[in-house]
Amino acid sequence: MSPEGIAAQLSGSPLLLLLDIDGTLCELMPHASAARVPPATCAALESLARRPGVYVALVTGRSVADAERIAPVAGAHVHGNHGIEWRAPDGTRGADPAWAQARPALREAVARIAAVLAPHPGAWLEDKEYSLTVHVRGCERPVASAALAAAESVATELGLRTAAGKEVLNIVPPGVADKGSAVLRLVEELGGDAPTAAVLFAGDDVTDEDAFRALREHVPHAVTVHVGPGDAPTAATTTLPTPDALAAVLATLVRRLETEGS
Ligand SMILES: [Mg+2]
Repeated sequence: MSPEGIAAQLSGSPLLLLLDIDGTLCELMPHASAARVPPATCAALESLARRPGVYVALVTGRSVADAERIAPVAGAHVHGNHGIEWRAPDGTRGADPAWAQARPALREAVARIAAVLAPHPGAWLEDKEYSLTVHVRGCERPVASAALAAAESVATELGLRTAAGKEVLNIVPPGVADKGSAVLRLVEELGGDAPTAAVLFAGDDVTDEDAFRALREHVPHAVTVHVGPGDAPTAATTTLPTPDALAAVLATLVRRLETEGS
């Protein structure tokens, strides 16, 4: 669907804009630390979040602190670590209490996975406190497969859950929030289940499918957008090719709300 077509489906109120960050609001980078959401996109999101009845939430696998660094958007809700931790616009912070039980296993996983990754050039472990990510974007392909298999075997042995993504392996505690439960919590908290509401969720990767499926089942009026090639398998209702195309949706919404508000 065109960006304008998607924006046209989002005319309800309240309007909830629930957005993944990497690969969705910005392009994936060779090293995750180099990614930044373009300033124009952050400005559009800030201007939308300022409107009465419009809510912006970033729902990401990054930690909340890292999300705030690469996507600084005043007025946004931030749900990090796939929804395990969050920060409200007023600065209130929280985390899924189910996480605490897995803390010793996560700490042990950090030490052991760092050791098994050491012989694999380009592979590295990101410790996000509530969950871990193994990155292999910088590896030769056979090295990447071996590194991911070694890390996965340690995580499984320690009773942790794993989810593959784009050249990453996410390692999360069992029984905690995922992007599916995070978006449903946001919908409930922000009134997105009202019959007049409009809800958008956009994402590009495997863990975003949890949110697509949860919304499809529980919030059938939600517009779900997979950012990426149109032929990729996804539970989303529509696709956009690139983060730039999603930015065009946001720009269209900004223009429309400015016109309505003037
Ligand atoms: Mg992503």
